[in-house]
Amino acid sequence: MQSNPSPTDRSRPVPPQLLPRTAEVDGDGTLLIGGCNVLDLAEEFGTPLFVYDEAHLRERCREAMAAFDGRVAYASKAFLCRAMARLVHEEGMTIDVATGGEYHVARAAGVPAASLVMHGNNKSEAELNLAMRDGVGRIVVDSFDELDRIEALVAGGAPSPAVLIRTNPGIEVHTLDEVATGVPDSKFGFPLAAGDAAGALARAAASPAMELMGIHVHIGSQVFSAENFADALAMLGPIVGEWDLPEFVVGGGLGVPYVAGEEAPTITQWANGIHRACDEAGIRATVSAEPGRSIAAAAAITLYRVGTIKEIAGVRTYVAVDGGMSDNPRPVLYGSGYETFLPRAVAAERPRTVTLVGKHCESGDKLVVDGAVPADLAVGDVIATPVTGAYGHSMGSNYNKVLRPPVVFVADGQARLVVRRETMDDLLATDVG
Ligand code: PLP
Repeated sequence: MQSNPSPTDRSRPVPPQLLPRTAEVDGDGTLLIGGCNVLDLAEEFGTPLFVYDEAHLRERCREAMAAFDGRVAYASKAFLCRAMARLVHEEGMTIDVATGGEYHVARAAGVPAASLVMHGNNKSEAELNLAMRDGVGRIVVDSFDELDRIEALVAGGAPSPAVLIRTNPGIEVHTLDEVATGVPDSKFGFPLAAGDAAGALARAAASPAMELMGIHVHIGSQVFSAENFADALAMLGPIVGEWDLPEFVVGGGLGVPYVAGEEAPTITQWANGIHRACDEAGIRATVSAEPGRSIAAAAAITLYRVGTIKEIAGVRTYVAVDGGMSDNPRPVLYGSGYETFLPRAVAAERPRTVTLVGKHCESGDKLVVDGAVPADLAVGDVIATPVTGAYGHSMGSNYNKVLRPPVVFVADGQARLVVRRETMDDLLATDVG
């Protein structure tokens, strides 16, 4: 489904469908999101800055909830802070947490443990113990060692959890190797082929230490192909049928467009395909999903300030901004593409080709390779990258001791700071030496 835009398309203004839902162009050509002028936001909160459109987030949550009959866990690895946890909880979703840290933030937001789904391929005894004693909603078991740990904790007095068994269908998944999980060579889940999945189900069913509720699969992330999901469900049909458990979770993984010319199914189309494939595979269990990226990615843009423009004759033009791989590591990790544009001229043609780089001591610190920008781009401009709401802030770091950016939520003309900018003192907060 992904396609590369032609060179002529590239100089067109940034496609509106890559911008958050409430994006509009003000009379003077400036971008508004949630009724807020983003240049004013850059002045007020500084740059780099993540700007999230609250209406967009809620709309995606509602779409997912409608498409899966109210059974959706938001995958918080995509983006998590207390405001986000509260928002998805208000929308009636449960939350998939993959570590004790994500669990802690969701709980700190006031989300009950019963509304959390505990994931992770190597959950520690401490993580399991806390979740079980709190009454976590589900534990998605990923290994035989984890079954041992749960049994030992229950023997030690912890309440028995409700569990799902994460299976790995071992199929070919069309996405990046780093985010494909349902493939034969994966650290996640119990492989179907070797009989491990059946073994884990039998063991969990026989164990008085847990209540086996169902089967889980997640084939990978940034997947565009409906066939990949259908293949996984077809592979799982027999084992799901044989066990006839009440729940079946299809994970997340729906891809989103990042650059002009890319297209992806909507959440509704994805869900319809999943339901159809489940019917065809004879899966009668209640089906639920765990979308992350498709909820959060296009809800946000990142604002940077241009500090340096370096034209290397005959090579390329580097435009350096005040953030970089520490607020968006996806280009460095996966070679991911992004668009870039000037919020002061959001509908402007973008005839100039530049490479947007960060301020880190790393040649690979690139945000947008060969990005299209308006001809009059200048030092001091606020420049933006869209579709940065998932796996940007959450995968960020403070490499080179660059301060992590703040996050603002905008809605109805109001901006509210939900994560403040890191300070120099924060850099020393854990340094006890
Ligand atoms: N569920 C599980 C178990 C995952 O590992 C992931 C992502 O890694 C997700 C859901 C969310 O995937 P996405 O953000 O692609 O929807």
